[in-house]
Amino acid sequence: MPRLVSLIVAASLAWGPALAAAPYADVRAEWNAPQAPFRIYGSTYYVGTHGLSAVLLADPAGLILIDGDLPESAPQIAAHIRALGFRVEDIRYILNSHAHFDHAGGIAQLQRLSGAQVVASASGAFAMEHGGVDPADPQAGVASSYPAVRDVRTIADGATLALGALRVTAHYTPGHTPGSTSWTWDACEHGRCEHVVYADSLTAVSADGYRFGDPQHPQRAEDFRRAIATVAALPCDILLTPHPSASNLRERLDARTRGQRPDPLIDANACRAYAATALKNFDARLQRERAPAQ
Ligand SMILES: [Zn+2]
Repeated sequence: MPRLVSLIVAASLAWGPALAAAPYADVRAEWNAPQAPFRIYGSTYYVGTHGLSAVLLADPAGLILIDGDLPESAPQIAAHIRALGFRVEDIRYILNSHAHFDHAGGIAQLQRLSGAQVVASASGAFAMEHGGVDPADPQAGVASSYPAVRDVRTIADGATLALGALRVTAHYTPGHTPGSTSWTWDACEHGRCEHVVYADSLTAVSADGYRFGDPQHPQRAEDFRRAIATVAALPCDILLTPHPSASNLRERLDARTRGQRPDPLIDANACRAYAATALKNFDARLQRERAPAQ
């Protein structure tokens, strides 16, 4: 009996990060619920889970995957890629929106399975290489850690990654995390090309005590506003977001399945609307920071 107790205590200590993750247990299961993969447009596919996006870009020269979702999502993402008829081993690059456990948690395993090169912003690379532990993260100490990713290659703001005919451009959109990055590319179908935007989270979520409007750190609010403006200004026909619910993907997909025309996934105003909502929420957050609830 004492031995069992000491084992449990030892296990609890060893799994400190897992204990910290306990509040997320329900939502993690919900996010990781099964989801059949589907074509978004052209050779761009949704291979994520029910509640977390992962996007596959296919070219005869190889595959690019954006986001790995939770650590426990990796097998599901790999299965989705295979179900679409592709080989996980053909993933050449894995990109990331931001280095939180729900979007980067599965990347280490997907990197192992594929041998792909992981690519991220400089701050994103730092956070992923430290398993999501980044003192500069507004959610530092609250966000769960995850398996660290090795050998992350950094990409500069505005730089383009090429693979075959694919051209994917990185846009730094810091705010939700210091390394937050939005990605853009063109997807073509029957000779018609659409601008796809995988816009990172623009929500101001933090650990207690962190202030986005801290006068000691004016850069925080400046960066956040610039990120929102960047997303608003992107050429944008199809908006995708790390949390599909943030851009109503489910509703748009259901409408498409019902045969709605024009294609409800295509909306040239989607990025501007997403940015406008983000700006409203960010201003409300700053307001609350200035006048905290009694
Ligand atoms: Zn996040």
